[in-house]
Amino acid sequence: MSQFWSAIVHDITPYVPGEQPKLTNLIKLNTNENPYGPSLRALEAMRQEVANSIRLYPDPASDQLREAIAHYHGLKMEQVFVGNGSDEVLAHVFQALLKHDAPLLFPDITYSFYPVYCKLYGINYETVALDDNFEMRVDDYLRPNGGIIFPNPNAPTGCLLALSEIERLLDANTQSVVVIDEAYVDFGGESAASLVDRYPQLLVVHTLSKSRSLAGLRVGYALGNTDLIQALTRVKDSFNSYPLGRVAQAGATAAMQDQAHFENTCRKVMQSRKKLVKELNGFGFKVLPSAANFIFTSHPEHDAATLSASLRERNIVVRHFTKPERISQFLRITVGTDVQCAMLVSALREILG
Ligand SMILES: *Cc1c(COP(=O)(O)O)cnc(C)c1O
Repeated sequence: MSQFWSAIVHDITPYVPGEQPKLTNLIKLNTNENPYGPSLRALEAMRQEVANSIRLYPDPASDQLREAIAHYHGLKMEQVFVGNGSDEVLAHVFQALLKHDAPLLFPDITYSFYPVYCKLYGINYETVALDDNFEMRVDDYLRPNGGIIFPNPNAPTGCLLALSEIERLLDANTQSVVVIDEAYVDFGGESAASLVDRYPQLLVVHTLSKSRSLAGLRVGYALGNTDLIQALTRVKDSFNSYPLGRVAQAGATAAMQDQAHFENTCRKVMQSRKKLVKELNGFGFKVLPSAANFIFTSHPEHDAATLSASLRERNIVVRHFTKPERISQFLRITVGTDVQCAMLVSALREILG
């Protein structure tokens, strides 16, 4: 506890990201990275950018990238905000749009960064319990609030809320912002981006870290009506005018334009997921229905922490959340390549005996 720290630093509880091990021989299934590389066009665009113009500051408004994102979603550039990873986009969203007198609402089991932002920005929040099947019940959110946020599919469960249910929520909740964090939507969900033109209170957040295989580049974005986007831009321009460097803008733009590579890799991940779930079910694992590039699973006879440690001894890293209690017997496992999934399955066969 340093005497030099601001009061806020004593109070905050920082988010702890999944481990990025220094060892290279590990099968890394703990942070939901894409097992396939990014678009070759994105890699080439980044090389060109480094070679030609890295001396110069980037476009502070990231116009080209926002145009490419808008085009992909059938929206206008003015409806797009970009940031240095969707975590940064989310940070601005919490500060710019979710801090009000009434409490912000989010699920009791969800992305654990949300309460961290609340603490950082002094936002009053209440969690809403998922049902016994770890599903969201829209009716539980129909009460006075200063905003609503949840991932869809949810993290770390992978469960999807139908778009019709999101519409029902938006029809009923018109007086505060509803944020849908679609980090994993490309692996089996339907984006709420199609609703942005009809609901001025809707903000949809995406990342290029998962479905576009660019976690190392740090690019995320938000889609919403121009009024919401302006609020985010005001915060961004009071914080860092150049959140995205030239390499990030060039690579992300090309990645958004490479539809074939994107569809291919997402399809492969979904096919591997289906096979993996079948294998795990065969071992007696319960697997929640996943629309994401990870699965959330528990075994009625094997302790999750022990399983995680046994996998680690065999050089396979998965994520185990000890809190909240309700999910402490689950493991979150990223869907890797078919080869990685096969190695996971054979390790589990060995461990379970
Ligand atoms: C991975 C993830 C993010 C963060 O993505 P970045 O763009 O890499 O910062 C945001 N929300 C959820 C639910 C995620 O799982």
